[in-house]
Amino acid sequence: AGKPLSPLKKMYRQATEFYQHILLTTKVGERALKYARKRELTDDLLKHFKVGYAPDSDNILLTYLKQKDYTDDDLRESGLFVESQDGQLFDRFRDRLMFPLGDESGYTVGFSGRRISNDKTIAKYMNSPETKIFNKSKLLFHFAEAKKAARSEKHLILYEGYMDVIAAYKAGIQSGVASMGTSLTTEQVYMLRRITPNILVNYDGDPPGIHAAERATKLFGQVQGFNLGIIVLPENLDPDEYVKKYGKEKYRAEVAGALSSTDFLLERLANQYNLHNDREKLAYITAAVQMIAGLNDPVAADLYLDKLARQTGVTRESLKVTFVRERRKLQ
Ligand code: ATP
Ligand code: MN
Ligand code: MN
Ligand code: MN
Repeated sequence: AGKPLSPLKKMYRQATEFYQHILLTTKVGERALKYARKRELTDDLLKHFKVGYAPDSDNILLTYLKQKDYTDDDLRESGLFVESQDGQLFDRFRDRLMFPLGDESGYTVGFSGRRISNDKTIAKYMNSPETKIFNKSKLLFHFAEAKKAARSEKHLILYEGYMDVIAAYKAGIQSGVASMGTSLTTEQVYMLRRITPNILVNYDGDPPGIHAAERATKLFGQVQGFNLGIIVLPENLDPDEYVKKYGKEKYRAEVAGALSSTDFLLERLANQYNLHNDREKLAYITAAVQMIAGLNDPVAADLYLDKLARQTGVTRESLKVTFVRERRKLQ
């Protein structure tokens, strides 16, 4: 039923099935399957996420797709191949574990391939180039499935990497999505907003991940109506490493214990000051009150002023004076 697939989408579907077939059932796929097992990817997970393997070959995919009735232009426009100077096509992805990137309806429109060799001179992940059907800034990995799950889970969780979305799925959380390793875009924020206001951000626990979470928090803050939670994992771990090390149960507890975005930003702010030094402490209080004065919700403002008073030992009354002054500046 429905309208027929465009040639490119059909090609991507066939490529997805071809790569998965190679991974799961062939001799050439054995090394990749071994890698997948090492990453604790079970058959069920590989199938749900349609993971496959692109062998180390010049033209295995090209040869396969040429048997189907695609035009030369379709093959060229697909992004699945690279073109030599004399116009010959070659498979773009080689010796990589292939993660299909689905559009809103779940049709594969691109791939991200993970290197499985130890060769650090090769990029860890490689993405399809942009095409007629693939626009990185408007796509979220696992979005079609996650939006269905959001109805029962009542939230969506944003991750940094594909393996993190998969680890969450393993832990029983089906509402995970990820951007393509690029920083979050406004388009993606609106895609999420259409599904639910309840967004949890669970980027990697390392400094780049925490920075990205701070940036994402501010981006979400520019759009009305979000109810944002931030999960910061310990020991620089990413969600996939965390689940591997501490298990599913503990991971779900981390999710349940997500910080509010204000708590997260205030903690980040506090980290920039030495609170044992009065001069720095005063600067922190001013910056924190400024942040609190920016909150739309008066109850939330009240709550965080109270917290700040307890944290700094300054009376609530004097904080309130500063708060009112900052508030006026904003009006
Ligand atoms: P893995 O667990 O397989 O090492 P990861 O998801 O933990 O992968 P990170 O280094 O944390 O990898 O990067 C997060 C995301 O950024 C990746 O999932 C991928 O989407 C993207 N990414 C990482 N390295 C590259 C790269 N060299 N080129 C393009 N995208 C990349
Ligand atoms: Mn990372
Ligand atoms: Mn990571
Ligand atoms: Mn990882």
